[in-house]
Amino acid sequence: METQVDIGDVFEEFLKNFQDIPGNFKYMNQINEIIAYRKKSIIVDFNDLFSFNEKIANEIILNPLQSLTLLEDRMIKIIEELDNSYPLEVEKVHVRIINLPRVIELRKIRSSDVNKIISVEGILTKQTPVKERAYRVTFKHVHPDCNQEFIWPEEGEMNDIITTPSVCPRCGKIGQFEIVPEKTKLIDWQKVILQERPEEVPPGQLPRQIEAILEDDLVDSARPGDRVKLTGILMIKQDSIVKRGSRTVFDVYMKVISIEVSEKVLDEVEITDEDKKKIQELAKDPWIKERIMSSIAPSIYDHWEIKEAIGLALFGGVQRTMQDGTRIRGDIHVLIIGDPGTAKSQLLQFAARVAPRSVYTTGKGATAAGLTAAVVREKNTGDYYLEAGALVLADGGIAVIDEIDKMKDEDRVAIHEAMEQQTVSIAKAGIVAKLNARATIIAAGNPKFGRYIQERGIAENIDLPPTILSRFDLIFILVDKPGSEDQLLANHILDMHGGKSVKNSIDVDLLKKYIAFSRKYVNPQLSDEAKKLLADFYVEMRKKSSDTPDSPILITPRQLEALIRLTEAYARMGLREVATRDDAERAINIMRIFLEKVGLD
Ligand code: ADP
Ligand code: ZN
Ligand code: MG
Repeated sequence: METQVDIGDVFEEFLKNFQDIPGNFKYMNQINEIIAYRKKSIIVDFNDLFSFNEKIANEIILNPLQSLTLLEDRMIKIIEELDNSYPLEVEKVHVRIINLPRVIELRKIRSSDVNKIISVEGILTKQTPVKERAYRVTFKHVHPDCNQEFIWPEEGEMNDIITTPSVCPRCGKIGQFEIVPEKTKLIDWQKVILQERPEEVPPGQLPRQIEAILEDDLVDSARPGDRVKLTGILMIKQDSIVKRGSRTVFDVYMKVISIEVSEKVLDEVEITDEDKKKIQELAKDPWIKERIMSSIAPSIYDHWEIKEAIGLALFGGVQRTMQDGTRIRGDIHVLIIGDPGTAKSQLLQFAARVAPRSVYTTGKGATAAGLTAAVVREKNTGDYYLEAGALVLADGGIAVIDEIDKMKDEDRVAIHEAMEQQTVSIAKAGIVAKLNARATIIAAGNPKFGRYIQERGIAENIDLPPTILSRFDLIFILVDKPGSEDQLLANHILDMHGGKSVKNSIDVDLLKKYIAFSRKYVNPQLSDEAKKLLADFYVEMRKKSSDTPDSPILITPRQLEALIRLTEAYARMGLREVATRDDAERAINIMRIFLEKVGLD
């Protein structure tokens, strides 16, 4: 007969003996560090455990609650053998398992996963402030004959809901029990919401989400907007007191065991070796920039400079960190203002589709958090949450915002910081936080008076303050004027509906990979010639703007930075590490078109 393995024994052996490379005791090293720094957690790679002993690895997956308690008891025992003062200072230790073989998609979680360990990936959208959970309560029996104190529960831990004994364990009588706060054991506690990554949500569907609980040293280890992998036990929410007529339908949540925050910004797009060959082949084409432009929303007729601007935003410039630590964004923000029915939304939707990582939203925002962030109160529980808005969710990618002129008042204030410093700060209802919002904005807006009035300046035509307008690198205006182009537009639309495709255009999938590849690997530097050209142009622009003082677009060092980004973006289109004179010329050219169209020259 096969003897039952004792998980505790095997785990102890594993911690003491496992060597990742001969002579290196990976987990004993961690234990020593835990002792030295009074840390609370050991991080165990599931693969190590599996290679050491399959049985206990499987047992942990199937029976995580009981097994983890056994493992943690062993861990504390080993620590105690080495340093018996540790348990006096650190009350609880944790075994944090990472690298589970199976990562489940959020929308594929099923009842069979309940009470098991699973891993899910997603984006953290909300988080509550840190609270304290009582896991072992000291009660006092409020009874004149007793008044004694006792610890509850006697074994194990209290769940989310406080339970009391039916009779006093000291005197055996029923009665009322009072919490003794100073003798009650507390643990840091935080609730977060994990949502599917925007690019995983099937078109036309709402993103799924799951509630997750972080405790002890895991609290605040990730922030809203972070892309994370959570490993934890899937639990059902349940009140411990069963009432007649209680529902038998439960919600699930995850009790988190480990968090891995993803640093890899553009790894969502998988690029195979074959793709890489195609990408490098494409880049050799001397007309690659033109091919890219003609591959952007090919079904839309004309609007070349807008397609070019979108192309530039998709590739982007290079983010720089100055010697003093200040960061200059590489993101190129683009705004399209235009009459209704001029294909603005279509262009934006295309941009969202081809961007390697994107969030599509409207100025009003899809959630209470709007474009930046908000503190929201959940009705059912009364919990306050810090919730990430579109620009935070798009961190590391592209935020496509339609009808940006309809944005909320709070966003109008916060978007300044988001567009330049690329962070969102919030201080409200006891929550103080700074979130990353390193996102490119491609936005469209409608004219204030329904139609664009060319006799008036841009600032009058759109319901956005000049301080926001000046943070866009490029702004274009689409005016719908009936006339000579109508026949050509009609032909183009009819051709497209007839299934004709545009010659020589790169298909969306490949273009997306091309962009992802370039953003990830190509970080161009400006050649001396390119630098000189930009400097001369800047000086010329400064002179002009001082001659036209009431111009809504001030020529500031911002425009010079914009020109640098645009030049770099052109180089990235050709996957070149050096931005040439030609790249700078093109950047100047598109900047000039922008300045002329918004009525500067
Ligand atoms: P907007 O957001 O500017 O109000 P839409 O993107 O909703 O406009 O466009 C309205 C419709 O007109 C869309 O079906 C779009 O394809 C079509 N359309 C407008 N301009 C063009 C164009 N230049 N080429 C092709 N289709 C166009
Ligand atoms: Zn009693
Ligand atoms: Mg529209």
